[in-house]
Amino acid sequence: MWTKFPLSVEICHGVAKEFATPVWLYDANTIVDRLKLCQVFDTVRYAIKANSNLAVLSLLKEHGAVVDAVSAGEIQRALMAGFVGTSEVPGVVYTADVFDDEALALIKKYSIPVNVGSPDMISQLGEAGIKVPLTIRINPGFGHGHSRKTNTGGDLSKHGVWHEQLSQCVQKAKELDIPITGLHIHIGSGADLEHLALVCDAMLECSKVLGSDLRYISAGGGLSIPYRKNEEDAVDVGEYFKLWDETRQKIEKQVGHKIRLELEPGRFIVAESGFLIAQIRAVKKMGENLFYLIDAGFTDLVRPAFYGAWHEISVIARDGRPLDEVAPVIVAGPLCESGDVFTQEEGGFVVTRNLPLAQVGDYVVIHDAGAYGATMSSNYNSRFYAAEVMWKENAAKLIRKRQSFEHLIANELLQMRRY
Ligand SMILES: *Cc1c(COP(=O)(O)O)cnc(C)c1O
Repeated sequence: MWTKFPLSVEICHGVAKEFATPVWLYDANTIVDRLKLCQVFDTVRYAIKANSNLAVLSLLKEHGAVVDAVSAGEIQRALMAGFVGTSEVPGVVYTADVFDDEALALIKKYSIPVNVGSPDMISQLGEAGIKVPLTIRINPGFGHGHSRKTNTGGDLSKHGVWHEQLSQCVQKAKELDIPITGLHIHIGSGADLEHLALVCDAMLECSKVLGSDLRYISAGGGLSIPYRKNEEDAVDVGEYFKLWDETRQKIEKQVGHKIRLELEPGRFIVAESGFLIAQIRAVKKMGENLFYLIDAGFTDLVRPAFYGAWHEISVIARDGRPLDEVAPVIVAGPLCESGDVFTQEEGGFVVTRNLPLAQVGDYVVIHDAGAYGATMSSNYNSRFYAAEVMWKENAAKLIRKRQSFEHLIANELLQMRRY
């Protein structure tokens, strides 16, 4: 059941040669497989920000997902991918703690339901004369997360409506005649089911404030994936569902009608489908330390530099020769920035990884890079966004071209001509 795409030497060589490195490769089957695991929930609302490529969105739409958008750009991607939905299950929901004018205009134009993350958003909808169905994202007063930067609850988190202010929000929406139909908690318990039980209790408590107006609850996202395959367990979606389903049934008893149960995963659906394929451009020694300098940097995959995130790394010889001998290596990128290292721990501590001894021209593959990889890339150092490729029906399909210099500077060029 727990399929993982076995990236072969042939596929790696083929993709690297055809599309140049660095390049993202996503396996379509893995994405669909993970979506299906989640579909024990009534609705799977994919969080676009994890991987927003239109081909990924289309694939998920084809297999029955709807989406969560967090910006005007993501709303437009969702519309372009054709997420329509029904009045029961909207194709796109906007979740954020603030609006900007562009998002507000799109929400008005396309009547997009909003998952509200601050009381001010309700007032602003009122001022703009927008009456879309709302859900409230609750901060239950506690959080969970794999690093300080991913903790999404508690009094140091900026996300959601503080649980004690829920009834105030309900009152405000009533005055404006805006319906509140759902509740949402995105904490990210990962595989921690004990913690999840606390989240479910918080949802049950909050549901009492809404009473019979409540139509659906969302369990949010935050399902982890086993980045360290030998040490971490995959989250048991069945168990995850069971806890939420019990909560749903309790709420149904309270309100006297059916409650729809949504899941809002991002990482879980796309992370394991993705590989970042890069090429070794220099092998050098710094004192006793051996460095592989590759042509991908934190401008491509920022997670190690940003969170100290651990990704599996493998080496594939460019000429197919066997790679037997292993040594501790530091894997770093091309940027003029000392933090541009893939083997580092939280806090920026550079560490070594045991990898095969390799040469310039061999490939370094960074695994589980399908989520928060390409979407978090930047143009720092005027580096171009890498190409994205999808492996589907036994063939590599280009789903985003590598960015060109012309594209990179297009908006500046217009300004320059004015001088
Ligand atoms: C980011 C986000 C998600 C997805 O989180 P994952 O950890 O990738 O599952 C879901 N819901 C909201 C509101 C988010 O901001």
